[in-house]
Amino acid sequence: MNYLSTRNKDLRMSASQAIAKGLAPDGGLLTPAVLPRLPISSVETMKEMSYQQRVVYIMNSFLEGFAASELTAYAAEAYGGGKFFHEDVAPVVKLNDNTYCLELWHGPTCAFKDMALQMLPHLLTASMEKNDEKKTVCILVATSGDTGKAALEGFRNVDKTKILVFYPKDGVSEIQELQMVTQVGGNVGVCSVMGNFDDAQTGVKTIFANEELAQILAERGYFLSSANSINWGRVLPQIVYYASAYCDLLKSDAISKGQQINVCVPTGNFGNILAAYYAREMGIPIKTLICASNHNNVLTDFINTGTYDRNRTFYNTISPSMDILVSSNLERMLFELSGRNDKLVRDYMGQLAEYGSYRVDSSIRTKLRQTFSAGCCDDDQTRAMIARMWKEQSYLIDPHTAVAFHVLDEYRKNTGDDTVTVTVSTASPFKFCSSVLAALGVKDQKPGIEILDQLTQFTGVPTPAPLAGLKNRQRRFNSVVEKSAMENCVLEMLK
Ligand SMILES: *Cc1c(COP(=O)(O)O)cnc(C)c1O
Repeated sequence: MNYLSTRNKDLRMSASQAIAKGLAPDGGLLTPAVLPRLPISSVETMKEMSYQQRVVYIMNSFLEGFAASELTAYAAEAYGGGKFFHEDVAPVVKLNDNTYCLELWHGPTCAFKDMALQMLPHLLTASMEKNDEKKTVCILVATSGDTGKAALEGFRNVDKTKILVFYPKDGVSEIQELQMVTQVGGNVGVCSVMGNFDDAQTGVKTIFANEELAQILAERGYFLSSANSINWGRVLPQIVYYASAYCDLLKSDAISKGQQINVCVPTGNFGNILAAYYAREMGIPIKTLICASNHNNVLTDFINTGTYDRNRTFYNTISPSMDILVSSNLERMLFELSGRNDKLVRDYMGQLAEYGSYRVDSSIRTKLRQTFSAGCCDDDQTRAMIARMWKEQSYLIDPHTAVAFHVLDEYRKNTGDDTVTVTVSTASPFKFCSSVLAALGVKDQKPGIEILDQLTQFTGVPTPAPLAGLKNRQRRFNSVVEKSAMENCVLEMLK
């Protein structure tokens, strides 16, 4: 199967090239030329499979040039025991007859990024090999918390890769910092940067743009890459859990064969909900995709009005992984909803770059509203939902998941639609102890890592093993550098 650029349909490449390159040379996003179908008969087949087998079944239909035996090995490594601490990998939890929660945080870093970043390194190194790339790839990441740790865990000890993560010294939580500086693995590096996330990110961009540096690294046998969420190798593994959730509902008789469900997704960069859209297009019976945003509600406005406008205030919220003004994966959605009109996509993206906004035409607006519903949630509403879920259902959720439940609640009130709905849970509440405890009314909070035990004592919910284990981990990385010295860290690591 070929992949093409959302900005030029004539630009084509193989699956392995698409994953190895990450981005089309014209700046477009690489997208499958045709979407494989997943008819209800396939769902019946998949119903009886393990999560890992479902991964192979779906990914195989997208990845020409990859043998099923290869994919089977990757699925075992990425989602097997030792990495995921729940045997179903992505379990569906029942809250009531028409409300279910898809928990995507049973991986090594307790956040949904693991679902993609556990698989990407395998797809990437295989793709490099298939394209005769002899050099070792070094993944550079600037992180505000979740992505860096998930990328470290995904790439650690993967052959032909190295990974170097930069985080802002004063811009991540104590637990997030501990997760990163105690990272094990022979091919990993972690470095904190004086300044905020923007400083770290600008520093990484400067390194990527430095051709002289690229030349030096090439002579040493390395090239630099990113583990960006627009890489097809990150979107594809996310399609699997939507199909898998549908199979699980069917298997437990929560729904009947072919019955439609809704999904509600806490959204930032639009990667997660885009995967749900693809699952729907492939044939999984999904009626409405409910897009949930926090106070940064650029997507809510876009879906409701057809105008995307990033010229607005940026808010730091208690659901930080959704604090985003430009959702880069939305480009693939525009491509699909415009009937794959590459010229139009190029035009909209040009306007976004130049003016920070664009307005889609009426046919796209209509399709958007037929497919999506959108809502948003501020921090007070987020805390209220965490408290209510705990009080009414004894179910402990993190702030990102709470945003989704709030938006679902509003959606049901406004529409009266009581379709069985799967709400996506994207992080363990233990990753955001302080906000969760505050929402539960606990003002006197323990410092540092002790807060994990405090949340356990208060709720009786055990701390997930990867976080509980932090206590006994050695700190391995201590360097703090100025932004201008980040390049030296790269040279030092890739000696
Ligand atoms: C990344 C992230 C999101 C947003 O997902 P997108 O694919 O960027 O829309 C939501 N919740 C958590 C916890 C995340 O880490």
